[in-house]
Amino acid sequence: MKTKFIFVTGGVLSSLGKGLAAAAIGALLEARGLRVTIQKLDPYINVDPGTMNPFQHGEVYVTDDGAETDLDLGHYERYTNAKLGQRHNYTSGRIYYSVISKERKGEYLGGTVQVIPHVTDEIKQAILQLDGEADIAIVEIGGTIGDIEGLPFIEAIRQLRGDLGRENTLYIHATYVPYIKAAGELKTKPTQHSVKELRSIGIQPDILLCRTETGLSQSIKSKIALFCDVTEKAVITAMDVDCIYEVPLRFHQENLDEQIVEGLNMWTRAPILTPWEELITKVKNPQHKVTIAMVGKYVNLRESYKSLNEALFHGGVPNNAEVEIDFVNSERIKGEKLVQRLARADGILVPGGFGIRGIPGKLEAIAYARENGVPFFGICLGMQLAVVEFARNVAGLSLADSTEFSPSTPHPVIYLMKEWYDYRTDKIQVRDEDSDKGGTMRLGAYPCELNEDSLAYRAYATKNISERHRHRYEFNNAHRKTLEDAGLLISGTSPDGELVEIIELNDHPWFLGCQFHPEFKSRPLKPHPLFVSFVQTALERRLKEKTTHTE
Ligand code: GLN
Repeated sequence: MKTKFIFVTGGVLSSLGKGLAAAAIGALLEARGLRVTIQKLDPYINVDPGTMNPFQHGEVYVTDDGAETDLDLGHYERYTNAKLGQRHNYTSGRIYYSVISKERKGEYLGGTVQVIPHVTDEIKQAILQLDGEADIAIVEIGGTIGDIEGLPFIEAIRQLRGDLGRENTLYIHATYVPYIKAAGELKTKPTQHSVKELRSIGIQPDILLCRTETGLSQSIKSKIALFCDVTEKAVITAMDVDCIYEVPLRFHQENLDEQIVEGLNMWTRAPILTPWEELITKVKNPQHKVTIAMVGKYVNLRESYKSLNEALFHGGVPNNAEVEIDFVNSERIKGEKLVQRLARADGILVPGGFGIRGIPGKLEAIAYARENGVPFFGICLGMQLAVVEFARNVAGLSLADSTEFSPSTPHPVIYLMKEWYDYRTDKIQVRDEDSDKGGTMRLGAYPCELNEDSLAYRAYATKNISERHRHRYEFNNAHRKTLEDAGLLISGTSPDGELVEIIELNDHPWFLGCQFHPEFKSRPLKPHPLFVSFVQTALERRLKEKTTHTE
């Protein structure tokens, strides 16, 4: 056994920030010089979150290898150096799918296939394939203790302590300690019940992460320790924080990392936390403020643009700027009202999306940014719409559209490319309108070559980049010349030149659309160059406007 395993479960209620806690633990352990990997096990039946509505489930996070995963993997990659992919996110659906396929192939040799041991063995295999990948693997179980659907996962991790040994496994349970105003007291009962529930399935937690708004006194910690049978030191205060990147530092103040390495019987150096400390100092003392209007459809739910919100935040850090996002719902706000909202912003961003709802408002916002020299960033669908807007209003193709919205348009500037060379799989991809919904997207990391005389090249400061994709439609090369002649700059393409990956406008301070999702690769300690450059230009515009107004 080369890797030790930490299992993170959650109790009392959902939304306790368990995923973030797992990620922050990863960051802390890396700060001690350990190599870390992280996996999420989700108890729902969907095989992956690819087809789930972001309204309900939040963003679909995409990894380099093209896995469509739970948004917690975004946290894991942002906080740690772990390279995640298909094997770091399993759902019940995926586990059962595999068990049932094996059964159909006769692999169980006529035996009765059961939850224990067949499903639990399949889960254990999924977990144990991480062995050797890092010093420590953190495995987060989605859902809340007590959920019926989570039981096979809990049973699997229970068995793993027996299989792997006490020194190689650690159970961390995240709970909630509410403050009841009427009583003026913190209540430990929900935590007691949650631990009781966990113990009834056979797991005695080693460490409790207690989420609280007010902090835990020593006497509360003693009480929890007594009732839940953990040491007082193992009762960790998980306080609400202003900035999520403070969590590793707060956990360290509570000696969580010490508890973990002790529990796993490991010897490491003390953590080096300076980069996180410097980040927090900077974030808490911004010199400037920038407002970015985000014109989208799922604007009601911040979780559906999680990585994007984070990437904008990261982009503010090197600029000493706090980035305020004004979520503009393009389905509801149009015309004069939209212009008023946009006029208050220093930059405009149109994010990725699917389907026709809200498209006219997004096109209006793009036209406004183009005509008024407002920094504009179009991501995936945002880039495709920037091409449509330019084709209609500048290149004279007045009926131009994406075939996603208008299948019979005479000027399909964005369309389903029938055949293209796929760098990731080294195969020719073929697709058409009838291709199956889930299986036809261009997914994962693709290489892109930059034109050296471009905004993109100046931001990245390198010619060859790799970025992550998640879309079906592409730029149509049949209209490439017309659009280029009208002033569109194609500043990034696939190495064979066939797939247009980045477009820009020359006579504009910052107008860039990219077919990929740069937000998936932005990190707090390594902000993405496009976001840094976009926020910087938005800030310059704001500062210039201020001086013009005060002159
Ligand atoms: N709907 C567009 C496509 O499928 C864009 C997708 C996206 O923005 N991720 O190509």
